[in-house]
Amino acid sequence: MKILNNDKYKKVLVTGGSGFLGKNLFLERQQWVYLSSKDCDLTTPEDVLKIFKKHKPDAIVHLAARVGGIKDNASSQAEFYYLNSLINLNVLQAAHELDIDRVLSCLSTCAFPDIVEKYPFCEEDLFKGKPAATNLSYGITKRMLKVGSDSYRNQYNRNYSTFCPSNIYGPFDHFNSEKSHFIPAMISKIHSAEEGSLVEFWGTGKPLRQQLYVEDLCKIIPILLERHNTEAPLIVSPDENLSISSAVDKFRNIVKKEIKIVYNNKLDGQYRKDGSNEKLKQTIGEFEFTRLEKGLEKTYEWYKNEKSIY
Ligand code: NAP
Repeated sequence: MKILNNDKYKKVLVTGGSGFLGKNLFLERQQWVYLSSKDCDLTTPEDVLKIFKKHKPDAIVHLAARVGGIKDNASSQAEFYYLNSLINLNVLQAAHELDIDRVLSCLSTCAFPDIVEKYPFCEEDLFKGKPAATNLSYGITKRMLKVGSDSYRNQYNRNYSTFCPSNIYGPFDHFNSEKSHFIPAMISKIHSAEEGSLVEFWGTGKPLRQQLYVEDLCKIIPILLERHNTEAPLIVSPDENLSISSAVDKFRNIVKKEIKIVYNNKLDGQYRKDGSNEKLKQTIGEFEFTRLEKGLEKTYEWYKNEKSIY
């Protein structure tokens, strides 16, 4: 990976700057401007134009979205569909109207088909089947964000491109809420479990996941902003693809607690959704991803110091 000494874009505006990923990105690029929904409701076109006009960015990193864990996704499908569609439509159109030539948008590997013929899947597989039923609305709005970015690229020659992170975890994640994804929910659950108690997890523990440590993604985003100028929905995923139960075992070893783990066999989600990082590495060069064990240790250290705020 080459270190960038002189950033090409001088005024970068980040949507979703108050979220889990946005807060981590701030630590990597403090000179960028970070928006929250308090600064602007991105579902309202006039407000989006107004805030973009105010900051006059030469590039936008678009992270804002209605995001949630598997249960939240499954039970609030209309909300995910409506809010994410509006946010994405408004961000791309306002950027184009104000002649902002660079938008890098965040999709998710949840946008990929539930099942593909061959794993790991690659960028070309994005439209080869429906996303998993549990995140259909969310996944389709992410696909639309890719189609939208390509449309402005093709019709107006804009440098609007996208990337797809796999499951992200790390400091500032949502540890104990409706928004929790698996890793933060596991950390909070095991941390608060009594010695000798029984801790229940959803599903079978068998599904495979590529858990991406957030600091890795935050190092990659500035490079993509400068270099990723194609239609490819670039997959950002680590090399490890581990089962849920092995993540639980790794974390139990870190916490060193005598607890019994049980899986309730309900709502497993997709069995696997590993994506290839080949194209990513062609774009950014070799990159050493944080191994899950190390990422969990770092996240847990952070959580123990900060958990009073959760
Ligand atoms: P998050 O913590 O829920 O943050 C969402 C951000 O979007 C917040 O800053 C929120 O602002 C903002 N937002 C939501 N609705 C808005 C609106 N109507 N107007 C303005 N801002 C709005 O989510 P995250 O985990 O950081 O996700 C960031 C991006 O990564 C998303 O595009 C998500 O799809 C993608 N992603 C996440 C994961 C993951 O595992 N977390 C995996 C793959 C991809 P407020 O704080 O003011 O509400």
